[in-house]
Amino acid sequence: MTELSEILSAVNAKIKAACARAGRSRDEVEIVAVTKTHGPETVREAWDAGLSIVGENKVQEAAWKKPESVTGPSWHLIGHLQGNKVRPALMLFDFIHSVDSLRLIERISSISEETGARPHILLEVNVSGEKSKTGMEPGLVDEAVRAILERCPRIELEGFMTMAPFSANPEDSRPVFRALRNLRDETERRFGISLPRLSMGMSGDYEVAVEEGATWIRLGTVLFGERPKVKGGASFSGLDSYSGEGPVAKVLD
Ligand SMILES: *Cc1c(COP(=O)(O)O)cnc(C)c1O
Repeated sequence: MTELSEILSAVNAKIKAACARAGRSRDEVEIVAVTKTHGPETVREAWDAGLSIVGENKVQEAAWKKPESVTGPSWHLIGHLQGNKVRPALMLFDFIHSVDSLRLIERISSISEETGARPHILLEVNVSGEKSKTGMEPGLVDEAVRAILERCPRIELEGFMTMAPFSANPEDSRPVFRALRNLRDETERRFGISLPRLSMGMSGDYEVAVEEGATWIRLGTVLFGERPKVKGGASFSGLDSYSGEGPVAKVLD
C-alpha cells in the first residue's frame, strides 16, 4: 500500500491546482480526514501526516475511538445526529457538520444551556433534493438560521454542508456545490452575518468542490483506501469489544 504521505502530496497538488483555477488561496481549503470504520491507528497516521481534522459519522464509534487515539486532531461529526446523542456529541466533537432540522437545533441549544457548551455547527442542506440524502430542504434554511440567531445564543453557526448524489462523474456534483454556495451567499446577505465554512466534496468530487468554494473537503477513500463493507459499518475490532466505559460512555444510552 502506498504511504499516506505520498497519497497526500498527490491530493494536495490537486487541491492546489483547483484553487489556482478558481483564483482561490490554498489556505482556504482544509481536509477533513474521514476515519470512520478505521481504528485509532488511522487517526494517528493522519495526524502524523499533518492532517489536523478527523471526521466521523457515528457518535458511538467516536466515543470509543477518541479516547484511544492520539490527542491533537480536531474531531468533526459529519453523519446524521439523533436527538438522544446530542449530549455525547457535544462532548466529543469540536464541530457538527450535520445539523439537519429545527428540532435538532432546539435540542442542541437546550443541552448547551444546561452544560455551558458552545457548539460550532453547520447546517446540512439537501440542495439536490434527492430523497435518500439527509439534510434540510433549502426552503427551511431561513427559518433555521432565524431560530439560531433569535433563540439559540450559545450556538455558533459557521456555514453549510451538503452531500452530492452519488455519481461516477464529478461534474454532476458541480450544480449541487454551486447551489450551496449561492444559498450561503444569499443567507449572509439577508441576515447580515458571516458564514465562512462550506463543507462539500468527497473523494470522488473534491476538486470540483474546491473550484466551487469548499473550505472543508471530507476525504476518506482517497486517503485510506476502500472501507470494508461490514455490517454495522466499523471494520476495526475495537468497537465490538467496546466496554461502555470511559468518560463519554456514561452519557451514551
Ligand atoms: C464517508 C463520508 C465521507 C467520505 O467519503 P469518501 O468517498 O470515502 O471520501 C464524506 N462525507 C460523509 C458525510 C461521509 O459519511
